[in-house]
Amino acid sequence: MSGFLVFDRVSKSFGGQRAVDDVSLAVAQGEVFSLLGPSGCGKTTLLRMAAGFEMPDSGRILLNGQDITSLPPEKRPVNTVFQNYALFPHLSVWENIAFGLRVAGRNRTEITAEVEKMLALTQLAEHARKRPSQLSGGQKQRVAIARALINKPQVLLLDEPLAALDLKLRQHMLSELHRLHEEVGITFVFVTHDQGEAMRLSDRIGVMNAGHIEQIGSPMDLYDRPDTRFVASFVGDATILPGMIECGSVNRAVTVKVEGLQTLNAVSEETWTPAQSVLVSVRPERIALSLSPQIASASTNVLQGRIEDVAFTGGSLQATVKVRMQSLTVMMIHTGSMMPKADDPAWLTVRPEDVRLIRDPSR
Ligand code: ATP
Repeated sequence: MSGFLVFDRVSKSFGGQRAVDDVSLAVAQGEVFSLLGPSGCGKTTLLRMAAGFEMPDSGRILLNGQDITSLPPEKRPVNTVFQNYALFPHLSVWENIAFGLRVAGRNRTEITAEVEKMLALTQLAEHARKRPSQLSGGQKQRVAIARALINKPQVLLLDEPLAALDLKLRQHMLSELHRLHEEVGITFVFVTHDQGEAMRLSDRIGVMNAGHIEQIGSPMDLYDRPDTRFVASFVGDATILPGMIECGSVNRAVTVKVEGLQTLNAVSEETWTPAQSVLVSVRPERIALSLSPQIASASTNVLQGRIEDVAFTGGSLQATVKVRMQSLTVMMIHTGSMMPKADDPAWLTVRPEDVRLIRDPSR
């Protein structure tokens, strides 16, 4: 497996419980790679093994072709930004940022030049003399990033760095992280349970579940082409229903009988055989809702049902529509031109390319 930061069949257990289970993945040089998954799925443990704070039970970790599995943290060219910032409360911003270079025994002129550079990069110059207690959450986070970057790591590991910030500040810090990455160009590995954060920041995402990687891909890949039920439901919203293949691939066209619903036309790159069990996933914004009958092209799926419920979220409307025995979630931009309400008859149209077929290992 080639890559800049490579996890090669890495496992780690705590008291008999597998936190990381045979994970292999390769992060490319200069990319922003996110580990995304629910609480307890093992993403922090994987990051801590890259930093050297935990030792794998088996497997290897390679950086730029070198086996770093048994190197102590201070010997690795990586730095970590922790969720709680871990700043020194008695030191000023300036001294917090200078810390790594002081420990490394660099001279005064060099330290001053580097700290000034970092203060400018993280836009903290005016706060240089303050103590951490006099800073906002976002400013503390930037000190933590500056303190890590000053050591010129080859990889910056970020462990839920935005978790303690409120929504607006989180969004601002995401843009800041993006800008910093553009400027310094080093590899970022970002741990988060927030799919929105991962999608906004990452070149690629590794979705984790119960200690293993479910799927690795670009944000758009994962959203448009989830390989598993877990990825389809964790990355974005989806209606996921069980079905059975009726007719296999002819020019990628597949028909699938959805349980409690009807036969749908789908498009799939994979090979399917008749009577094969499958999961059918449709994103809510890929379903068009109309309150009157629709004329659609021959292959477009038309489903007739009744609105169960409508939720207004500001910019969008989310409707639950009952079609035969199933409920489908539909999301539409709120323009004010259509106000669906419960019990209204509804016509749904879905293009075959928006019907995603997923292998169903449970059946
Ligand atoms: P979160 O988002 O909540 O931080 P996570 O995906 O980062 O979760 P980990 O922190 O890697 O998950 O934990 C994975 C599993 O390993 C959890 O069940 C956790 O309780 C366990 N675990 C992690 N560190 C230790 C430890 N030092 N001792 C015992 N169990 C641990």
